Amino acid sequence: MQYQAPLNDIKFVLFDVLEGTKLQDLEKYAEATPDLIAAVLEEAGKLAAEVLQPCNKAGDQEGCSYDPETHEVTTPTGFKEAYRQFTEAGWASLDAPVDFGGQGLPHTLKLIVDEMVCSANLSLGMYPGLTHGSISALYAHGSPELQQTYLGKLVSGEWTGTMCLTEPHCGTDLGLIRTKATPLDDGSYELEGTKIWITGGEHDLVDNIVHLVLAKLPGAPDSTKGISLFVVPKFLPDSGERNPVFCGGLEHKMGIKGSATAVMNFEKARGWLVGEPNDGMRSMFTMMNEARLMVGMQGMGVAEMAYQESLAFAMERLQGRSLSGPKNADGPADPIIVHPDVRRMLMRQKALNEGMRALALFIGTQLDLSVAHPEDDVREAADDIVQLLTPVVKSFLTDEGFNNANVGLQVLGGSGFTTDWPLEQLVRDSRITRIYEGTNGIQAMDLVGRKLALKGGRLIGRLFDLLNGYLTENPAAPHHDPLAAAVKALEEGTGWIATNGMQDPEEAGAAATPYLRLTALTVIAWLWSRMAAEAKRQLDAGEGNTPLLQAKLVSAQFYFDKILPEAGCLLADLRSGKASVMGLEDDQWVA
Ligand SMILES: Cc1cc2nc3c(=O)[nH]c(=O)nc-3n(C[C@H](O)[C@H](O)[C@H](O)COP(=O)(O)OP(=O)(O)OC[C@H]3O[C@@H](n4cnc5c(N)ncnc54)[C@H](O)[C@@H]3O)c2cc1C
Repeated sequence: MQYQAPLNDIKFVLFDVLEGTKLQDLEKYAEATPDLIAAVLEEAGKLAAEVLQPCNKAGDQEGCSYDPETHEVTTPTGFKEAYRQFTEAGWASLDAPVDFGGQGLPHTLKLIVDEMVCSANLSLGMYPGLTHGSISALYAHGSPELQQTYLGKLVSGEWTGTMCLTEPHCGTDLGLIRTKATPLDDGSYELEGTKIWITGGEHDLVDNIVHLVLAKLPGAPDSTKGISLFVVPKFLPDSGERNPVFCGGLEHKMGIKGSATAVMNFEKARGWLVGEPNDGMRSMFTMMNEARLMVGMQGMGVAEMAYQESLAFAMERLQGRSLSGPKNADGPADPIIVHPDVRRMLMRQKALNEGMRALALFIGTQLDLSVAHPEDDVREAADDIVQLLTPVVKSFLTDEGFNNANVGLQVLGGSGFTTDWPLEQLVRDSRITRIYEGTNGIQAMDLVGRKLALKGGRLIGRLFDLLNGYLTENPAAPHHDPLAAAVKALEEGTGWIATNGMQDPEEAGAAATPYLRLTALTVIAWLWSRMAAEAKRQLDAGEGNTPLLQAKLVSAQFYFDKILPEAGCLLADLRSGKASVMGLEDDQWVA
């Protein structure tokens, strides 16, 4: 089926529930009127459906191919043309800095366009996706010369960017990297080493590829404190000379086969330092934080596409009769959407998807406030929330993106397992989103081990201020009491980790994943209460899109009845501590 961008839901959440309409009050985003945002979203939806989606299946079936003679990579049929249309229409530069040719539109808009792109073609979306992170890192940390040389072409999409961190012996633990950077007399560096699994490391979509590479300077400390960041182009921009950074092969993967995942050999390739020596992790985090939100949107995009596919199937497929009597009496059977068990799956997809989208839009608006609001304290508060919830968005949206794709496959029964239907590709494609950009386990450790304690607990304090402020100011808010119970569970979980994790870090490590999930479910519950309140207000006032508003009330009910109760289990899980997690001795695993 053709993808349909969920424009009504996006507009309801962004304009009616969140502060999206106020973005234009910020000087930086004065042009971002609701009309402009709505027009951009509509066009993005068309692009996703008409340009990106049509080559998605070819991407999966053909994959990318590698020529060992030339070290060149060819992308699947249709990718080059779709990428050309994507960049020529300006989609690569949506929220990029205006001083380098970008459109400077709100990040919120970029996030939601990411969702659409990833619903339609996750693999293709990876190429501009990684480029966007390179732009941010160079913009924040590159010298004026580097910015002048690279940013214009990266922003326009004429060149693409990569992020080269992983090496054969290290992924999570980047302190172990071995790629070397040796200073040359002219101020540049010579890079030697091998990076693996580099997204878009080599391909034929553009003429030049700009690698951002983590490497170690001579004598650098043997940890993440000894890592520097370099920009290493495939072709040197001044001379056009080929830089000796060659693709050594492609991975054969479970999914996202249209995205080239390359081994990259740096054979004394020339590079230039970005930022300060030994400060590469800080620069890389600019890129990674942004990429983490983008990967969250990949999960969101897949979840939405899976929902659309499974819903359409459930309305057509005739099997069995409704338990309350035939609904399609003239036909041989009823459509499977009449069955409670099928509806339960579809409602799970719908309630989670809309909740996750609200979370993403909330983070988007906070991100925009954090960079564009004139008042320091507002910017600071928004930035605290973004920092705290970035690992939550990355993890929860990708966990549930994958789960919802799986649930969608189940709705299709045997058809879902065949390649005639797109669900199995969605399941395979989305699996990686839980792994790259820092596995979801590492996101949970980031939340618990770093973000909770940051600035004396200020970040999590901000979140509780928002949640408790809402509960106090809105005693009659929809689902007030279960929301209050979830907030209390999150407070108890936070307190438990603060006490026990401080004494024994393994206690925090064992509690991290359930804690992250508890945070996500609670924040989404708050957003569902707000969505239900606004839906009710509009229905009472006779405003708005009645079916959408009525459906919001039912979906909110489903969320509080069927999904949020997991919060209690998560609190029990984390409070039970590390004993059963850490209890086995080495000789007891396979006894
Ligand atoms: C398709 C694809 C595309 C990729 N694209 C890129 C790219 O563009 N650039 C790039 O640099 N890399 C890329 N990667 C690499 C990716 O980011 C890593 O795979 C990921 O960070 C995990 O590293 P790893 O695979 O080495 O796993 P490991 O680090 O070996 O981890 C294995 C397991 O142990 C857990 N673990 C490890 N350390 C800890 C710890 N301290 N505490 C708790 N748990 C821990 C992990 O969560 C994981 O479950 C890509 C990978 C794939 C498959």
